[in-house]
Amino acid sequence: MVNNDNNEEGKRKPLNFIEQIVEEDLKNNKNGGRVHTRFPPEPNGFLHIGHAKSICLNFGIAEDYNGKTNLRFDDTNPLKEEQKYIDSIREDVHWLGFDWEDREFYASDYFEQLYEFAVKLIKQGNAYVCELTPEEIKNTRGTPTEPGKESPYRNRPIEENLDLFHRMRAGEFEDGRYQLRAKIDMASPNMQMRDPILYRIRHIAHPRTGDQWCIYPMYDFAHGQSDYIEGITHSLCTLEFANHRPLYDWLLDHIAEGEYRPRQIEFARLNLSYTVMSKRKLLELVNEGYVDAWDDPRMPTISGLRRRGYTPESIREFSEKVGIAKRDNVIDVALLENSLREDLNKRAQRVMTVLDPVKVVITNYPEDQEEELDAVNNPEDETMGMRKVPFSREIYIERADFMEEPPKKFFRLAPGREVRLRYAYYITCEGVVKNEFGEITEIRCTYDPETKGGQSPDGRKVKGTLHWVSAKHALPVEVRQYDRLFMDESPDKVKEEGKDFKSNLNPDSLHILENCMAEPYLKNAKPEDKFQFERKGYFCVDRYWKPGEKMVFNRAVTLKDTWAKIAKQQQNQGQKKQKNKKK
Ligand code: ATP
Ligand code: MG
Repeated sequence: MVNNDNNEEGKRKPLNFIEQIVEEDLKNNKNGGRVHTRFPPEPNGFLHIGHAKSICLNFGIAEDYNGKTNLRFDDTNPLKEEQKYIDSIREDVHWLGFDWEDREFYASDYFEQLYEFAVKLIKQGNAYVCELTPEEIKNTRGTPTEPGKESPYRNRPIEENLDLFHRMRAGEFEDGRYQLRAKIDMASPNMQMRDPILYRIRHIAHPRTGDQWCIYPMYDFAHGQSDYIEGITHSLCTLEFANHRPLYDWLLDHIAEGEYRPRQIEFARLNLSYTVMSKRKLLELVNEGYVDAWDDPRMPTISGLRRRGYTPESIREFSEKVGIAKRDNVIDVALLENSLREDLNKRAQRVMTVLDPVKVVITNYPEDQEEELDAVNNPEDETMGMRKVPFSREIYIERADFMEEPPKKFFRLAPGREVRLRYAYYITCEGVVKNEFGEITEIRCTYDPETKGGQSPDGRKVKGTLHWVSAKHALPVEVRQYDRLFMDESPDKVKEEGKDFKSNLNPDSLHILENCMAEPYLKNAKPEDKFQFERKGYFCVDRYWKPGEKMVFNRAVTLKDTWAKIAKQQQNQGQKKQKNKKK
């Protein structure tokens, strides 16, 4: 049964509508109490966060009810499918933390069986070979309010249909010459039931079956049949397939033997603000060079999120939080960002890194002296312990943490002002050194040796605390700061103005900072390690960084909890509205 571990009060979480269906089926001992789901990607692109949602749902249901999940490649369209996509999909599902064990299947493995199913339909008089072109078929389908026109080939004798279908397979005809259609009802109010095409001729090699086939089944004739062949009990798909369900059931009722039927259930697809989520559009961004690759850290692909610094845990948690809906909606991308922030806040090692360094010389600190100071690794997790941070006469601080003429609310370093260096000492600014262009090249300070550890024995208060890095111990690193890929929360909106979604791309989605200075602790970091840079955000060592090169960090997410702020604002507004109502 559904686990309720993550419910603090020990109360059972309310079931979503899919879980309700599954429990009802179990109660009735449908399918002998089996729960078997599948994740069925078409290998024509990399998986995105929407797919992650579907993966979590399918594998999650199986986990909760002692069931199984298959990974099935829906590879019925050889035009767009490639091995590299299959490889990336396998990698992404595993990385998310799910395992299909030995159940990796391909719709193309079923081509022979699907062909037999089609023959069965023809023999029943439920399918026929049509000579109308796909274009003509489309034009004679009618409209939702008007019935379609029956094909002149609809009543072709069964023997002739069998012969033609056989010859279609044998390669006797060119593409588009004949189509196999189901014979259902050209007047059905559901357009999907108006004699849909089941097979088309395509003289094109398939990545897995090679030249073996020149006829390929349509999605509708492959999907439900594959579910049936694999013994799937609950076939979860997105809402746009709801009107295909009667066809799904009709086909199975005419093909299947015995009682067992897979059941299709639809849920709302995940949409995110500031994000496009169609593989076609993502492919366009890759092919036209707007991003580096499918796994560019700005992409909403699973591999892009991974490279950006997302954890599988944060994506699973996000998926859980957004829940399962029956109606389409758009989720604020800030919710995704916040799932990562919450996860890394609990787990990430804190370090100090100066992104835009300016040198500070502590004039009363002896030149040949250095010392090691104690720093907390993670205030959220005592078990992560402490580390030593080296300190010396010359350090770096952020350029933005100093102002020569500070405005009123600036509490950081300024001439004559005393601030705390985190884990170190209080320092007071005595002056600055400038170059010929008037730029500050050095800030000169004194320190108070009595304030070691950042505490003053006399209880003297300072308003600012700065992060810093000892200059001679610093590790030079590169930091890539990412921003949203699109400027508008609905990138597709520009379509209304006749513009392409790419006109909405954010020209400032990447800033590379080449001269950052990190504390030496980071020397031992490995690709994909994640850290909180104090006061700056969460950062991840780039997956493709190699030891020996300058270390590269990707900013995964900023520190500021903009989501909490938004939620609070909304809550406040809600309360205000309620008050107004009471009046
Ligand atoms: P896209 O429209 O983004 O190209 P797709 O639906 O064509 O995606 P498939 O490879 O056919 O991609 O999808 C595999 C599975 O993932 C399907 O079951 C599909 O319903 C599900 N899926 C795809 N996009 C989303 C989404 N945004 N939210 C939830 N599930 C999704
Ligand atoms: Mg699809």
